[in-house]
Amino acid sequence: MAAQETDEHKYVYDFSEGNKDLKDLLGGKGANLAEMTNLGLPVPPGFTITTEACQAYLATGREPDGLAGQIEAHLEALERAMGKHLGDPRDPLLVSVRSGAKFSMPGMMETVLNVGLNDQSVVGLSAQAGGNDRFAWDSYRRLIQMFGKTVCEVPGEEFEHALDEAKAAKGTSNDLDLDADDLRGLVDAYKKIFAKHTGREFPQQPREQLDLAIRAVFESWNAERAVLYRRQERIPADLGTAVNVVTMVFGNLGPDSGTGVAFTRDPGSGAQGIYGDYLANAQGEDVVAGIRNTVPLQELEQLDKSSYDELLGIMARLEEHYRDLCDIEFTIERGKLWMLQTRVGKRTAAAAFVIAGQLVDEGLIDLDEALHRVNGAQLAQLMFPRFQLDHEFEAVATGIGASPGAASGTVVFTSARAVELAAEGKSVILVRRETNPDDLNGMIAAQGILTSRGGKTSHAAVVARGMGKTCVSGADAIEVNVPAKRFTVAGQTVHEGDVVSIDGTTGKVYLGEVPVMPSEVVQYFEGSLDPEHIDNALVRAVHRIMTHADGKRRLAVRTNADTGADAARARRFGAEGIGLCRTEHMFLGDRRELVERLILARAADEREAALEALLPLQRDDFVEIFREMDGLPVTVRLIDPPLHEFLPPLEQLAVNVAVAQERGEDVAKEEALLAAVRRMHEENPMLGLRGVRLGLVIPGLFAMQVRAIVEAAVECAKRGGDPKPEIMVPLVGAVQELETVRAEAEKIIEEVTREKAVEVLIGTMIEVPRAALTAGQIAEAAQFFSFGTNDLTQMGWGFSRDDVEGAFFWRYLELGIFGISPFESIDRDGVGRLVRIAAEEGRAARPGLKLGVCGEHGGDPDSVHFFHEVGLDYVSCSPFRVPVARLEAGRAAVETGGSDSR
Ligand code: PEP
Ligand code: MG
Repeated sequence: MAAQETDEHKYVYDFSEGNKDLKDLLGGKGANLAEMTNLGLPVPPGFTITTEACQAYLATGREPDGLAGQIEAHLEALERAMGKHLGDPRDPLLVSVRSGAKFSMPGMMETVLNVGLNDQSVVGLSAQAGGNDRFAWDSYRRLIQMFGKTVCEVPGEEFEHALDEAKAAKGTSNDLDLDADDLRGLVDAYKKIFAKHTGREFPQQPREQLDLAIRAVFESWNAERAVLYRRQERIPADLGTAVNVVTMVFGNLGPDSGTGVAFTRDPGSGAQGIYGDYLANAQGEDVVAGIRNTVPLQELEQLDKSSYDELLGIMARLEEHYRDLCDIEFTIERGKLWMLQTRVGKRTAAAAFVIAGQLVDEGLIDLDEALHRVNGAQLAQLMFPRFQLDHEFEAVATGIGASPGAASGTVVFTSARAVELAAEGKSVILVRRETNPDDLNGMIAAQGILTSRGGKTSHAAVVARGMGKTCVSGADAIEVNVPAKRFTVAGQTVHEGDVVSIDGTTGKVYLGEVPVMPSEVVQYFEGSLDPEHIDNALVRAVHRIMTHADGKRRLAVRTNADTGADAARARRFGAEGIGLCRTEHMFLGDRRELVERLILARAADEREAALEALLPLQRDDFVEIFREMDGLPVTVRLIDPPLHEFLPPLEQLAVNVAVAQERGEDVAKEEALLAAVRRMHEENPMLGLRGVRLGLVIPGLFAMQVRAIVEAAVECAKRGGDPKPEIMVPLVGAVQELETVRAEAEKIIEEVTREKAVEVLIGTMIEVPRAALTAGQIAEAAQFFSFGTNDLTQMGWGFSRDDVEGAFFWRYLELGIFGISPFESIDRDGVGRLVRIAAEEGRAARPGLKLGVCGEHGGDPDSVHFFHEVGLDYVSCSPFRVPVARLEAGRAAVETGGSDSR
């Protein structure tokens, strides 16, 4: 290996030179083959060409200097070790050329097997295989086929077609019925196909075959399907693939040969045991092609006890070494076991928790590591109800699992019908081609949403996820006919009133009702399953890991809740207070009339009367919430949305008035209402009269809310409770706004708490970019900040919250402008920077300033890590996300090493 002793850049590593931590350079497959080699496991000898070589090739269109010489040197070493030469006519060394990137991209890139076979060495191979001519010619025709397709872009169907013809000539449909002569004939036919498409003969030089195959693997990094896969999985485009050149071993040399896959634990449930499949007398590609049925791995014990025992020993060893579930590919060549691949295996969410718990029990990992190995997305998955699919249910269509969960219900096609049936207590599934903002009421009323169009960022998907509602989008096998109130799928017609079931995780759609099982993990969080006393490995593992996360995290976790019921549930889920109680819903329902009076009031006394009537109702709202969160902080936000949202829509009113006028009815009241709605109409209500602006414009509105909050707190305190109210002012952009509201609020607090002392904090949301940039000034007037990252994202990017995700985000995701919607996961560089600046400048102005976040990002795993890094005190999220945030806050603390200073 003289080439490597010079100063030249090293592009080729023998398996004995690498290790599992070199995935960046050797790819996952190469790094793990090296690791197994160094463990002394039976890996067919070989070497890995680095991802750097691939990157250089893709950048320049040619192999980097030195690569050819290094391949030569490693090939010679391989030949010496095997005592054979590549393509030797008498006793050929054959190799496979396999892709292997840092991240697994199953089936996306190329592999060429049997490199080194030609018209002479095929004879040598037959002799070597004990005169097995059939095997040798079959191997040769596979090489021409794979090489032709992969390296020279010969259309694969032509080879398939020739194979079919050979079988037809023989009167069979089974490859195994073709004998050596048939296959020899097929080799001739394949060579002709090759020559016709490439204008040259099939290359007989083994080294040329090898070089071309390596180049084809490099190039397959940029194959269309690989590019698409990377985009979807958010794998960076510039990593490149490594190429593994591995001595061929054959699982198709007879009944004492075979190939299989194995898992060291069940990747579905995490249960310990032996899981895998085996296929005798076959190569790996036959398993994938499903030519014959595999048998459970345990049957290998009868077929070849010694290989089986050796395999089990290796599996135990690998698990102990990797300290994790491993998946394995192996081949047995005439009774000799060879390991072809291993890696830390993929697993379901449940298995991730169970395995992490088991490995702690086995002393292989500690609890910090267990916490690191699970994540909030997995926990969220475990909190959705699931279908009980043990009966025969067959999906009639599969769309995109747009918002997880399982829902069964009566089919409806309009929002209005959804609302009607839901009011009767029915569970409904709203079916549309696609949804739009007008469907909102129906979506709220429905148990699940099914659309025939649109992807993961369609309106239906985004809104459903926001609501935590099950949604399958883009089920394009479904033909929706809204006027006729029916849809057709797979030749069947489903009418309004029929029942369907949708699985928002898998995207599957079933006809009829599939029974739904509640989540055990939710039952545990609700307190109805005691982890110490039930035999449920998953619940026990979740309990253990959550307890550890709680002990480690620095961030507190609060909830966004505006009813007593939500507050109570969130508290059971571990919320340590309310970070955002939105007061706007308290102005709906039977209070609408009072709100209308307030908005339409012409004189101060009319307005005051409406506010006075609202005061006791608001006070009761807060009493209930303070009671449920007794002893914990409750941040109540003064009303935020524009007031005209509480009035009927302009178009509807205009029509009503016109119709009534036509009929000669008295429309004075409606006209006044219409005039008010017209007056308040805004082109950009999100940027208009809302939040603190409203409080400064409508006299007495904020004062009424402040009084209701403080009176409720005093009432609770008088009854022996321990309320901790925090009053939060929305949409502040300038300290003067806050100062004005605060001066008025302080007077009320002073007056009301004379009767009974209660501490009331006054703080602000930071959700307008100007507030973030003037945080130092604002902190002078605020006892706390809570980042409203929904509006901060809206105003930071200039993206209308309600429109853009459905309108054009698909294109932004496709172009990679961002990998995930900035409304879902915080944009660290832009919006995140505003948060960072405000946190730093706020704390500099007022040391100890309490900082939290209450936008949707408070429950997003990646964003939680960011808020930990920035040093916030708490995150606040919807009740169902509370456990996710607890877990991620624990992970963030463990990963950054800063733990438990709460
Ligand atoms: C926000 O803007 O992030 C926020 C929490 O307020 P809302 O979503 O009610 O506008
Ligand atoms: Mg907001």
